[in-house]
Amino acid sequence: MFVEIALVIPLRQVFDYQWPAGWNGPKLGQRVLVPFRRQKKCGLIVGVKEKSEFDSVRQVLALLDEHPIINKELLELTRWVAEYYFCGWGEVLQAALPGGLGVHLQSEYLWGLSRPDQNSDLPEKFSGLLEKERWTDQDWKELKPSAVDEELRQSWLDSGFLKVQRHLVQQRAKIKTERWVRLKNSPSDKLGKSSRKKTKRQRLLEILLERDLVHWLSLRDEIKAPASLLKQLVEEQVVETFEERVFRRFLPQGLPVSTGFQRLSEDQQNVWTLIEQSLDSKTYKAFLLHGVTGSGKTEVYLHAVRKCLELEKTALVLVPEISLTPQLVNRFRERFGDLVAVLHSGMDDGERFDEWSRIQLGQAKIAIGARSAIFAPLQNLGLVVIDEEHDQSYKQGESPRYQGRDVAVYRAFQEKTTVILGSATPSIESWQNSKTGKYHLLELPSRALTGAKLPEVELLDLRQQPRQSGCYFFTKELVEALRICLQKKEQAILFLNRRGYAPVVQCPECENTINCDACSLSLVYHQSSEKLCCHQCDHNQTFPKICPNCGTRTAMRLVGTGTEQIEQDLRVVFPDARLLRMDRDTLHGKHALSEMQQKIQSHEVDIVIGTQLVTKGHDFPNVTLVGVLLADLGLNLPDFRSAERTFQLLTQVAGRAGRGEKPGRVLIQTNNPHHHSLLTAQLQDYTSFVNQELPLRERFRQPPFMSLASVLCISRDEHRAKDLALSLRQNLRSNAQGQVICQGPAEAPIRRINHRFRWQVLIKASSAGLIRKIFEKSLLGPEPLICSREENIILDIDPQHLM
Ligand code: ADP
Ligand code: ZN
Repeated sequence: MFVEIALVIPLRQVFDYQWPAGWNGPKLGQRVLVPFRRQKKCGLIVGVKEKSEFDSVRQVLALLDEHPIINKELLELTRWVAEYYFCGWGEVLQAALPGGLGVHLQSEYLWGLSRPDQNSDLPEKFSGLLEKERWTDQDWKELKPSAVDEELRQSWLDSGFLKVQRHLVQQRAKIKTERWVRLKNSPSDKLGKSSRKKTKRQRLLEILLERDLVHWLSLRDEIKAPASLLKQLVEEQVVETFEERVFRRFLPQGLPVSTGFQRLSEDQQNVWTLIEQSLDSKTYKAFLLHGVTGSGKTEVYLHAVRKCLELEKTALVLVPEISLTPQLVNRFRERFGDLVAVLHSGMDDGERFDEWSRIQLGQAKIAIGARSAIFAPLQNLGLVVIDEEHDQSYKQGESPRYQGRDVAVYRAFQEKTTVILGSATPSIESWQNSKTGKYHLLELPSRALTGAKLPEVELLDLRQQPRQSGCYFFTKELVEALRICLQKKEQAILFLNRRGYAPVVQCPECENTINCDACSLSLVYHQSSEKLCCHQCDHNQTFPKICPNCGTRTAMRLVGTGTEQIEQDLRVVFPDARLLRMDRDTLHGKHALSEMQQKIQSHEVDIVIGTQLVTKGHDFPNVTLVGVLLADLGLNLPDFRSAERTFQLLTQVAGRAGRGEKPGRVLIQTNNPHHHSLLTAQLQDYTSFVNQELPLRERFRQPPFMSLASVLCISRDEHRAKDLALSLRQNLRSNAQGQVICQGPAEAPIRRINHRFRWQVLIKASSAGLIRKIFEKSLLGPEPLICSREENIILDIDPQHLM
């Protein structure tokens, strides 16, 4: 018998191996160890067959799992992802499983029923090992074992004193257990009340007589009992112990107070009727829920999840990483308690593994998570929700470069469920899908809370408006609005999509700017660390006193602004205001975001200054003013989505204002007040935006009218990068037969990252399938495309960024 194995390598093929005779039959989804070239590798069984078309097929070395670690539906889903995004199946599996597949093997040693006798001739240095339940090769090596010691260990293994288990190092997370104790036989001890000074043994037995089951660690702490006492009681057969699995939790212990479901408004009810019908029908149907910020989309999701549970099905809720905050998670936990499991990247391996296990074991029926949660092992799926479906973070920036939103829709299709894509600013792709009938459009045109209205938005033309003296980046109008807001004891959010102090450092003599050595980007000055940092590769260096270009000793000029500078300026204008800066530099630790939110919620801060982190998901009723310092930052990027992104970002951040009863005000400072992104964001008029944007996309043959892929040819050698791209274009043209459009090659907008030059070719066609077909052919010929080490040709299907 033969098995097909997916390995974690960037090759789009699976490999045949022979299944050893006499082994139990292989199951799809089990991990195995196989020889690959001159190494051993871990892979997953993805196929079983009687015959292999290859002659010399090697044998599987070891089976690593008793049971499959992934179910058939997810195997199929990962296969589809690998095929669509043109990457290795093993790579997708690696991304889909918590802790991945694991690559290295590590041996772990456990003592058998008895241990070697310490009193015999056992060298002293092993006493530490004797006390350990289990130890690794690492522990062993630290003892600097001699050849004789090695023999000794081997004899332990041979005689069964010692057992060895092999683990995959990458899959570090293991099942965690805790020890419990209970009485087995009544003790013969006298436990009379009279004795005033009880021994530890007596107290321990008393406690066990009172409560039948006791958690060992708490008991140990309670009476300071040593482990030896427990061991002795076990040996006397007075007590017995057992291990029980516990689940590590990222969320705070204990549940929030449960709350009831809101009565749906009329608009919500109209939307809900259709969703409910679809859930009942148990077939695939996709809804695009377009609802303005604060229109009660989340309440609709909550209703849908409740219905889904009533139908005895499970639900998957995807949200962008940064909206995955306790605020949102609690709304689900208030209604559904511990049926909710959360998956996100801030969790450590153990927490993620355990939340994943709770889903797999069926203890949790609702998985809420960021992108990679599309692979959550939910059985009997009944609903998929994709909140903020337009969000860029759904697309993975490295291989496998999948678009989580689209994979989630595919999963819903595959498992015949309802899927809801929600947003106040849907992606143009999804909007077009609702026009062509692929998605069913649902609208929530106004805010849900009675009295809450969409805020007033004003555009402030930076070219004309007077500036605040001493604070070049603030108009007088914005400062005045802040003053009023503070006077009224309300809160404000200021948004600037750039962290650091100043994005450009320039020599006043030669006008040269200081760039990263490794990347073609200017270094950003960070005041808090007094360093210049590259935002692409994280390189940093000290602030120069001498211009590295012309050698003049001079004070460098700082050009432009970032959140640090804005914070500093504000301290001057409003010395009494309590400020909070929220960007990647101030987020320390996995609970930082929620702690910051807590501060805003409880009005410990008056003004929040931040990057994209402040634009999403937050719902603070006392925030009545939103200021955008420079709306144009993303507008002139060489990317066809720049208008769309700017519109979305501005509309979302505007949506943070006036969510409670107090009305909100939004001031947007810009140099492009006549751009359609800004004008429509001002009116918060999505339809008007798409009606202007769609014809542009059609005219320039951009998505959603064409499928797009970007190919990057990367090399340390600039000429090689260019030559690869030229050959690729040549090959594409000769294979295309007029079916694809090729653009380029051209230098990528960021021409160098990490010392590697990047040339880009764009491919457009009527479908992604066609692009893949022709790309695959073009890799083979007619001009040879041979990458040496450190060179790369990267295909990105449906790219989110063209930088
Ligand atoms: P969205 O997800 O569209 O931003 P939310 O679901 O967060 O909107 O709702 C915005 C606010 O309106 C929340 O405070 C929510 O509790 C409230 N809300 C939503 N639906 C209702 C309803 N049917 N009745 C009363 N309040 C509601
Ligand atoms: Zn760099």
